[in-house]
Amino acid sequence: MSEPAKDFDAIIVGARVAGSAAAIFLARDGRRVLLIDKDAFPSDRLSTHIVLGGGTKVLERMSVLEMLERLGGVRFARMRAIGPDFDYGGELARDGADDRGLCLGRVLMDAAMIDAARSFEGVTFRDRLRAIDLRIEDGAVVGIRGEDASGVHEFCAPLTIGADGMHSSVARIASERIGAFKRIDVPCARAYYYAYFEGVPRKQLGDELVTEFESAPGAGNLVCRCENGLTVAATAFDAAEMQTFRTGLASNLRRYLDRSFAVGKLLEGATMVGRVFSSGLLNNTCRDPVAGGAILLGDAGLHVDPLFGQGHSLALMSASIVGELAAGWFSAVRGNSIPAAALADFTRRRDAELMPYYKASVRVSRALALDQGSRLAHRAASRERWAADEMIRFAQMLTPHAAFPSFRFARLMATASRAA
Ligand SMILES: Cc1cc2nc3c(=O)[nH]c(=O)nc-3n(C[C@H](O)[C@H](O)[C@H](O)COP(=O)(O)OP(=O)(O)OC[C@H]3O[C@@H](n4cnc5c(N)ncnc54)[C@H](O)[C@@H]3O)c2cc1C
Repeated sequence: MSEPAKDFDAIIVGARVAGSAAAIFLARDGRRVLLIDKDAFPSDRLSTHIVLGGGTKVLERMSVLEMLERLGGVRFARMRAIGPDFDYGGELARDGADDRGLCLGRVLMDAAMIDAARSFEGVTFRDRLRAIDLRIEDGAVVGIRGEDASGVHEFCAPLTIGADGMHSSVARIASERIGAFKRIDVPCARAYYYAYFEGVPRKQLGDELVTEFESAPGAGNLVCRCENGLTVAATAFDAAEMQTFRTGLASNLRRYLDRSFAVGKLLEGATMVGRVFSSGLLNNTCRDPVAGGAILLGDAGLHVDPLFGQGHSLALMSASIVGELAAGWFSAVRGNSIPAAALADFTRRRDAELMPYYKASVRVSRALALDQGSRLAHRAASRERWAADEMIRFAQMLTPHAAFPSFRFARLMATASRAA
């Protein structure tokens, strides 16, 4: 069944981190936005919930950070990184600066972000509506066809945003129909499993994000407190071990978390609650994010290995770039869409600001062992307080234009290399 096309300035497919953030930025600018998702909300998504400092800065600019904190989001104020020959940490709130991260489960976070987007008069939200096709005119995207329980509906807008995750339908359909959104995939060598624990005393684990590398060959762990007194803990390991791991999910997760430098001890006496979640096999995927009338945000444009917990922050930061650039785009509409040339500044900004993080992810994804550069950087950070701060600012995606390492830090890496 078809209904008359409705007009919006932008249609956003996918309403979670990237989509709801983009809707808020566009609505603030007075745009009429249709935000759709095939899911119903509240609902869960695979994620260990870490929003790094760079991501929380965007949440703050969106004026939703306090609300997410009130829902129980834990603001981690310290980060610690541990490996076979390094152990360093840094404060995220000091000298008057507040660079703390956030850890809040996706069931709460995604529903709250959607509510925040819906509170703008310009935003129309439709859940349980799946984008099944794109409307294309003269090689450009001019809208979508979506399907829900009542049938198929058509919607038009000069800008369509694919914020529909790593298996983006917007990207796939545009690629098939107009050859847009070229992609490069780099498989992740590791798989990820995580669960929630209760009964972790605060004196054992405070407001700290703890990450571990090479606790066993190729392995890593992460632990952080989240809402309702729970703690989320994840382990990463050679994806080839997945079949064996699955034969005893809960006991194997516990065993893998225990073969750690610190994480096992932090979880001592705690009880695992609920089920064990699994990532399956993953890719790092980088797509050219712009086509005539359309862009890709979040995982749809840049999907990274979860090892560094960068996904939400990349999604939020890419949505923030849309907020900064969109006014210029809407004044460049030709016919029924915004030309790709007008949207090209999104590619430039995304690549300048976010690609260094994607590249860091690719480096640790290709092989199970830490590459030489990463190892030296961790060792350098272990040597000097200022170097630990610099490394942690990069890990928290707080370094402006990802200018890392600084000359001073690179010199310290060289010293660490000579000492090795
Ligand atoms: C095991 C694991 C742990 C992770 N841990 C972290 C972490 O600690 N920190 C972090 O920052 N990142 C983490 N990530 C990554 C993070 O979950 C993603 O980067 C983040 O969810 C991306 O947000 P997004 O809005 O781009 O896409 P998604 O959250 O994937 O949302 C996409 C939305 O699009 C909708 N959609 C898809 N197709 C259609 C369609 N055709 N029509 C309508 N709607 C559609 C989906 O229903 C979904 O709601 C982890 C990932 C995994 C796998």
